[in-house]
Amino acid sequence: MSIYLAKTIVSTDKAPAAIGPYSQAVRVGSLLFTAGQIALDPHTQQVVAGGIVEQTTRVLENIKAILDAGGSSLERVIKTTVFLKDFNDFAVMNSIYAKYLAPKGVGAPARSTVEVSRLPKDVLVEIEVIAELHRKTGLNGEQLPVEEKVELSNEEWRKRLTLEQYHVLRESGTERAFSGALNFNKESGSYQCAGCGAELFGSEAKFDSGCGWPSFTIPADSKAIRELEDISGGRRRIEVRCARCDGHLGHVFPDGPGPDGLRYCINSLSLTFVKAQ
Ligand SMILES: [Zn+2]
Repeated sequence: MSIYLAKTIVSTDKAPAAIGPYSQAVRVGSLLFTAGQIALDPHTQQVVAGGIVEQTTRVLENIKAILDAGGSSLERVIKTTVFLKDFNDFAVMNSIYAKYLAPKGVGAPARSTVEVSRLPKDVLVEIEVIAELHRKTGLNGEQLPVEEKVELSNEEWRKRLTLEQYHVLRESGTERAFSGALNFNKESGSYQCAGCGAELFGSEAKFDSGCGWPSFTIPADSKAIRELEDISGGRRRIEVRCARCDGHLGHVFPDGPGPDGLRYCINSLSLTFVKAQ
């Protein structure tokens, strides 16, 4: 079996252009690798004025822009390498680095720091990072930034979904209790939106509520779902939708077993199960 992973080139005009045989960043699997960034202004391609403070700030802004464009973010950086022209600049570089990559509440990435005799354009600092992508997949299984919305016409949704899926996802329908294929599924893996492929729930959050629909204690990522007040049928409930495609998933009730006490009661028809490898 082939385990070849396709690589995707990341390119953005919000960071300095690649001006040689390299890419600003490359994504492969669930990881993104950036090229080493130096303090070039993305508009002028010139080294910014100033010293280590200005250069470190510009480098980290460039990295932030590349991560954004590539479907990751600073909080998802797992490893960095910092090249310094002069190790005496370490403390200053480190204080700025910490603001970007290790703010309060974020686990700092692993790091290597090295002093080198010379850097491109004689800059003072160069930084490269490896980051994990946001755990989101698009319509064709490709990785997408969390913020990227999927907006299709009703006609396009009808083509993409079965009649039953369309009724639930696009018309806020509810499948019959105990009718869903995933209701009793106990395999390990992830539950994705049947409309757009966004990862919504992990199997570790699934529990048997006995209510007749797949039930979860917590979403895979709080940003993956959207909650709305639903007063249809004469009672107040909280509707749950996919944040990416706005598809109706089900409702959340305050009677779950987890630490948050929630039960995400989700239509099986709104979900696609992807078995863990
Ligand atoms: Zn969706």
